Amino acid sequence: MKLPAFDYAAPQTLDEAIELLATHDEALPLSGGQSLLPILAFRLAAPSLLVDLRRIPGLDQIDISASGVELGARVRWCDIEADARLLTAHPLLAEAVTHVAHYPIRSRGTVGGSLAHADTAAELPGIAMTCDAEIIAVGRNGKRRIAARDFFVGPMMTALAHDELVTELHLPPWPPARRWAFEEFARQHGAFALAGIALYYDLCDGVATDVHIGVIGASAALQRLTPAEAVLEGCVVDAATMLATAQAAAAAIDAADDIDAPADYRRALVETLTGRALQRAVTRPH
Ligand SMILES: Cc1cc2nc3c(=O)[nH]c(=O)nc-3n(C[C@H](O)[C@H](O)[C@H](O)COP(=O)(O)OP(=O)(O)OC[C@H]3O[C@@H](n4cnc5c(N)ncnc54)[C@H](O)[C@@H]3O)c2cc1C
Repeated sequence: MKLPAFDYAAPQTLDEAIELLATHDEALPLSGGQSLLPILAFRLAAPSLLVDLRRIPGLDQIDISASGVELGARVRWCDIEADARLLTAHPLLAEAVTHVAHYPIRSRGTVGGSLAHADTAAELPGIAMTCDAEIIAVGRNGKRRIAARDFFVGPMMTALAHDELVTELHLPPWPPARRWAFEEFARQHGAFALAGIALYYDLCDGVATDVHIGVIGASAALQRLTPAEAVLEGCVVDAATMLATAQAAAAAIDAADDIDAPADYRRALVETLTGRALQRAVTRPH
């Protein structure tokens, strides 16, 4: 289908972009266009103005330091894949991104676009939730650091104001010995996940601590599976605790029931994927 008519601007500065958004009620930012253009083609939105972010300098940096990983809003999936530092600085992120769509989409889609689009089946919002990331947003009223749990307020809904742009994602530091895994199930490689599990924990005196388990795709909202985290916290990770954690994950999920899969199937997927992720986290060489 043809796109609806809209005006187009490609500002050279962040301030200019924010001013355009603030002064045009029907304006939308455009980043990689991999979600927005299909939305326009399906006539699910009809903005009067698209504010293209591609010329704004400084949004395409990946910074790694003792305080964690900072991904600029215009960093693309392929930039993350190509940055070998992330294999140690944030292996969970590096692996999750390989599941995003197909290469042509990964060569255009961006961090800021994915966070703002807030699809509950998308990998990066799930990683942001699982890892207690912060989203940095800038608008007319200045800069805000928004915890991921406050940023994603519902399916495809965020706490961003109309004139606010995501400029960065901050992921906390990643200890080298951390145990982790990302597992997802999609009907075909590159399709959105019917369910996915991101998890990590640290080992202290042989028991799991700081357990984080997040889910994508399986429920209407991005969720941390805190009851399942509590089952594993402080325990030796063995076959019995892995099974109990996977069962608790399935019980904790508010499973979506829709045209793609019934709720019971998604719940079963969550149990299987959690068990598989725990197994991989244990057996991966460290
Ligand atoms: C066939 C197909 C398969 C896909 N499969 C997957 C998948 O498996 N996993 C996955 O995660 N994604 C998938 N995607 C989506 C893809 O990753 C998108 O690129 C991504 O979700 C949006 O990024 P974008 O840069 O293209 O944003 P755009 O499409 O440009 O924008 C998306 C939304 O975010 C807003 N926006 C963009 N940038 C900002 C910003 N900096 N601040 C505030 N608002 C902003 C836009 O106004 C728009 O509402 C798929 C897409 C397609 C077409």
